[in-house]
Amino acid sequence: FPGDLSGNTMQRQTPDVMFCSVKPADFINTELIDFNENLSVEIGLGNLESDKNFLAAQDLPDNVETYATAYAGHQFGNWAGQLGDGRAIYAGEVQNGNKQTEIQWKGAGATPYSRNADGRAVLRSSIREYLMSEAMFHLGVPTTRALSLSKTGEDVIRDIQYSGNPQKEQGAVVVRTAESFLRFGHFELLSARKQDDLLKELADYAIDNFFPEVRSENNSTKYIDWFQAICNRTLKMIIDWYRVGFVHGVMNTDNMSVLGLTIDYGPYSMMDGYDLEFTPNTTDLPGRRYAFGKQGQISHWNLATLANAIFPLINDAEVLEKILDDFGKQFWVKHDKMLANKFGFDEVLKEDEKFFTEWQQTMQDLTLDYTLFFQQLEKPISEIKIEDFSNSFYRSLNEIELKKLSNLIEKYQARKLKNNISETESLELMSKTNPKFILRNYLLFEAIQEAESGNYEMFFKLKKALENPYENLFPEFNKKRPSKYDNQTGSSQL
Ligand code: AMP
Ligand code: MG
Ligand code: MG
Repeated sequence: FPGDLSGNTMQRQTPDVMFCSVKPADFINTELIDFNENLSVEIGLGNLESDKNFLAAQDLPDNVETYATAYAGHQFGNWAGQLGDGRAIYAGEVQNGNKQTEIQWKGAGATPYSRNADGRAVLRSSIREYLMSEAMFHLGVPTTRALSLSKTGEDVIRDIQYSGNPQKEQGAVVVRTAESFLRFGHFELLSARKQDDLLKELADYAIDNFFPEVRSENNSTKYIDWFQAICNRTLKMIIDWYRVGFVHGVMNTDNMSVLGLTIDYGPYSMMDGYDLEFTPNTTDLPGRRYAFGKQGQISHWNLATLANAIFPLINDAEVLEKILDDFGKQFWVKHDKMLANKFGFDEVLKEDEKFFTEWQQTMQDLTLDYTLFFQQLEKPISEIKIEDFSNSFYRSLNEIELKKLSNLIEKYQARKLKNNISETESLELMSKTNPKFILRNYLLFEAIQEAESGNYEMFFKLKKALENPYENLFPEFNKKRPSKYDNQTGSSQL
């Protein structure tokens, strides 16, 4: 693919190229905080811990070719033109057997795509990406991953409250990995530039390398099948987000992975109290475009945008519309199946739709804790007690509300008797569907506060907990958000 090898990192439009060579900043005093050895071995890098400099992008050998790619995107529904890796720099790819992995430093310095920003990342946002991407992996959600977390030894200036009073924060670098970081936006860029040959070349590259489910030889519907595969993978990812209660926060098309991976851990949050309108992104108010309950619709919108971008490869609007329509229908089929799994139902009965609607309304009206609610159901039906649900209340409920809840539980118990699987099988299904540990925003907040003063105890404890999310290793983490954090959301200044 065409690149600019001049090494010029001045922020600019790069009209003819897809990547620019870029050198990371000259960090001189970096410190490795954590290294993910299992991941390193899995991707074929072995134990890199001794190579602390590489992990922090410090003192790289001169012959290392590092680069940043150009992409485009729609941000909050609007065409944003050329974007690109503004603070991600590719260290290259590794091959392990037939497994290919791309490696990036995030926060290692400015690139031509940094626009007005510094290309840096702070310890706060880096801990958020490092822990949450691994939490998602262990929850079984398709995601990019995190290989290491280092401090850069630099101060970085951020105005987290938009107060006009910016503060110094500690700089950090995360090494992150993915089979590929290809985004919807990479294809949108080539399409907007009307570079149809390159668009085709990039699509072929993606199909040949990352879509074994698409037959690429002598296949006259190759690009249609590919788009279908992207829809399938995106659907799986979004349903998983709903299953665990993840809200991404910035589902712009430049943050959508063509491979169906969760990417760009910015102002995300796990949801505590159930709320379809919940968004952790303070820059997404009052519109709430990327709220929890909208993520299905938005992924559909994003896929339609991708369909537009790759249209020159397909030239058949009808077939694309059909795939998109089908996505909308499949969303509800998969969503109901996912809910059935959470409730321990062996299948989705016709009557379950009504039950799910009533459940959702009750969760929303009573703001019950999403994760704790399902844990209370995860017992033999005769042992389910209405009193036990009080651990998932974020306010005191009146009698009518309590009655609503107990009605719902009674209906649940009655429905469970219709299962064609045993109680044990049902409970097994629930225990692998419903997490016992989620990385709640307040837990991250506490770990970050400690880490900023040099204490990583909580950070490592959370890391242990998130590696085993379907077990209750630390009961002190398996609690609703304390009320002192009620007004805290995510963070959009990263
Ligand atoms: P995001 O909202 O994180 O998806 O970022 C949108 C665009 O801004 C992307 O092209 C990023 O690379 C870029 N960007 C975000 N933060 C920074 C930063 N601190 N320095 C340079 N570029 C950034
Ligand atoms: Mg982004
Ligand atoms: Mg980001």
